[in-house]
Amino acid sequence: MSARVLDGADVARQLRRSVAADVARLGAAPGLATVLVGDDPASQIYVKNKRKQCVEVGMRDLHRHLSAEASQEEVESLIEDLNADHQVDGILVQLPLPKHLDFRAIIDRISPAKDVDGLTAISAGRLAQGRPGLQPCTPAGVMTLLDHAEVPLSGARAVVVGRSDLVGRPMAQMLLARHATVTICHSRTRELAEVTREADVLIAAAGVPQLLGREHIRPGAAVIDVGIHRRETGLCGDVDFDAVKEIAGIITPVPGGVGPMTIASLLRNTLDAAAATR
Ligand code: NAP
Repeated sequence: MSARVLDGADVARQLRRSVAADVARLGAAPGLATVLVGDDPASQIYVKNKRKQCVEVGMRDLHRHLSAEASQEEVESLIEDLNADHQVDGILVQLPLPKHLDFRAIIDRISPAKDVDGLTAISAGRLAQGRPGLQPCTPAGVMTLLDHAEVPLSGARAVVVGRSDLVGRPMAQMLLARHATVTICHSRTRELAEVTREADVLIAAAGVPQLLGREHIRPGAAVIDVGIHRRETGLCGDVDFDAVKEIAGIITPVPGGVGPMTIASLLRNTLDAAAATR
């Protein structure tokens, strides 16, 4: 039997619609400051999409751009200005930053109240301790997708492939907070397929094209593919979609699965950050 394919674009549209309605109710439009350092083409596209969708839901686009040669002090000083600016409810520093910059020090300058990417040490610590706070957008988007599909999480066996600060670790914390039994895999994991075959819920965030095939999947599992890879034939994920869809119960496509959820979650975080100060 073929898996149910989750339409992330549609779920993201619904989330943006609900954010737009909440923005209208809030009265004063929340302000999102995206910060781009340099001119990396992929980062430019990501930031452009974030700014466009921010305006579409009725928020203020307070974008800031620094040159690729900006110093650590210049970037940190911009973050301090944005922290102090009452027009700014959310700050997002587009990663990766140019190599000469210490990105952790820059991220940690962001006020936790405005950390709409959920990447500061304080936000990560709050999430690890199960306390309220702003949470990273991509795993938050995955949780929204799982809830939309009514995937049971309490007591479920969840396996997360990947342990990055951006996706894998926060993803595991969010699943744990929902009472899943969570295993985290990484590049040193032995017998990966044996571990992933245990999963009722499998999250692929390894950044390796089509790493997970049929042999990695428990029949009927919910398989969420966070990976995005550009190939000559088009985009693909960390999951071999065609093979896995024959055995999984639920699966996300690439493109059109997790991808659209990330910006929608960013908008939700910005709204939440603004609502906390109104
Ligand atoms: P990352 O920082 O490169 O982390 C990859 C993780 O996967 C690492 O923890 C690594 O283990 C692990 N890994 C690598 N090869 C593995 C293997 N063969 N078996 C098991 N684990 C392996 O990547 P990321 O930032 O988390 O992103 C992961 C993927 O998601 C990428 O394709 C990225 O483009 C995509 N992504 C998508 C969105 C979206 O909006 N849809 C957002 C963010 C990222 P070690 O820790 O041992 O090195």
